[in-house]
Amino acid sequence: MSANKYDFVIIGSGLGSLVCAAILSKEGFKVAVLEKQPIYGGSLQSFTRKGISFDTGIHFTGCLGNGQQLYKVFSYLGIIDTLQYKKLDTNAFETYNLGGREFSFAQGFDAFSDSLKSQFPTHGKDVGVYVSQLQSLAQSIPLLSLTKPESTFYPNTEKLSNILNSVSQNDLLKQVLSASNFLHAGHSQQTFWYVHAVIQYHLISGAYRLVGGSSQIADALVAVIKNNGGEMHISQEVDALMFEDKLVKYVSTKQGLRLETKNVFSGIHPSLTMKLIAPENIKKPYRNRLLGLENTVGSFTLYLAFKPNTFHYKNANMYFYDGDNTWISEQQKIKQWPYGFGFFPQADSLKPNYTNAASVISFVDYEKFAIWNGTKLGNRGADYDALKEELTQKMLDAVCRHIPEIKNCIAHYYAATPLTWEHYTGTPQGATYGIMRNAEQEYSLYVFSKTQVKNLFLTGQNTFLHGMFGVVMGALLASGEIVGLDYLLSRINS
Ligand SMILES: Cc1cc2nc3c(=O)[nH]c(=O)nc-3n(C[C@H](O)[C@H](O)[C@H](O)COP(=O)(O)OP(=O)(O)OC[C@H]3O[C@@H](n4cnc5c(N)ncnc54)[C@H](O)[C@@H]3O)c2cc1C
Repeated sequence: MSANKYDFVIIGSGLGSLVCAAILSKEGFKVAVLEKQPIYGGSLQSFTRKGISFDTGIHFTGCLGNGQQLYKVFSYLGIIDTLQYKKLDTNAFETYNLGGREFSFAQGFDAFSDSLKSQFPTHGKDVGVYVSQLQSLAQSIPLLSLTKPESTFYPNTEKLSNILNSVSQNDLLKQVLSASNFLHAGHSQQTFWYVHAVIQYHLISGAYRLVGGSSQIADALVAVIKNNGGEMHISQEVDALMFEDKLVKYVSTKQGLRLETKNVFSGIHPSLTMKLIAPENIKKPYRNRLLGLENTVGSFTLYLAFKPNTFHYKNANMYFYDGDNTWISEQQKIKQWPYGFGFFPQADSLKPNYTNAASVISFVDYEKFAIWNGTKLGNRGADYDALKEELTQKMLDAVCRHIPEIKNCIAHYYAATPLTWEHYTGTPQGATYGIMRNAEQEYSLYVFSKTQVKNLFLTGQNTFLHGMFGVVMGALLASGEIVGLDYLLSRINS
């Protein structure tokens, strides 16, 4: 048994866990982070092949500009000056190619509105209505401006489809406006409006690429935690939460650690957290609800490495579709996979002329891979390797069809399936963005930090929202349960 007693044991070292650990250690608590992988960061991780580093789960984010929300949080944590990032193209940070027709989003609400009005000259009024709907949703969530909500955060339960139908009758405009569904893998008829709106709002406010990769955020946060006296343990997979008097008292790992703690923060999928708890220690309906949450679709990523100085860096993300339907996660079963994909070039310096790597992402049904569930990474068998190769070649064909000049630039490439994601993040089914926020299952909204166990709190992408912005905001709500959200926000805003 450990001689130490911790204020907080934190499960996982994804972004949510690391931000909570950094805040709590900065505020004087004794924390220990337990990560099952030999490397920190979850989806913040990068990996290197033949000298080229590839980002895995964060290619860009919003609100990193001076004085913006993430800038302020990272300043409070003391890491902003260590991060390297650059603003994406102001006029077109996202470009969408719908069967050969190109559309784009500009940054800044006025520029976004003006640019879309020029792309849809006969529907300027609709664009205006959409933008004001976005802004009023953002105002209705005080946390988005780092202000304390008057009561517990209860998201808006309106459906995105209803809002879009009220905004415009033009199908093409609605498809373009909802093209950011790539960033939540939602469903055209079921996704909540707030999910779409928060993502659009924070990116239009200012979209940034991390220069040199997202693992710099994990490295910076780990340094803060250690400087504050926190402990970081890698290769420690939490396998049980042990209770005394209805509270978690010990956290144990497969590798034999047993830490005594006053509180636990769990940054892993809620269903995995529930599986760490003996059923008698938690109310059945709550446990069943978290065990039964629907997940978003898995993804297939092709990591491309380019020959030096061959492929020009584009300061934007590009999305390609074979037709007008941008609801890409609904298209992953069709025979002509991939129907569409997102193309994310990496920036290796602040002013790159060329890029040496890019990630190409599309969605795939986990069912295709379910039979290899339980097999080991790198040793899943010939049939798995054959399917992976087949999808790799299909993806390469699609990329070369849409971006012909890329063909002669590719030096080598690698692929990741939903099973790869499941391995590296633990997320069941390799769900790209964690749980599905589905307006037809309203309970999917109510995954709060506070749980039915008084000293157990949840953080990470399945609480407030996924993505860098959503996870950091969720981590503020979670840490705010301990230090007081008012206090925390005042520290961040000062
Ligand atoms: C392909 C892809 C691209 C994306 N692109 C972007 C993007 O460009 N911008 C953006 O903002 N967001 C993006 N996202 C989403 C974003 O990466 C995630 O929402 C976010 O990083 C999730 O953070 P998290 O805190 O939930 O932890 P996760 O990253 O899910 O990490 C969880 C950690 O917990 C560990 N763990 C699991 N079980 C245990 C256990 N029992 N014991 C100990 N440790 C455990 C895992 O090993 C892992 O390290 C992308 C996601 C994917 C999949």
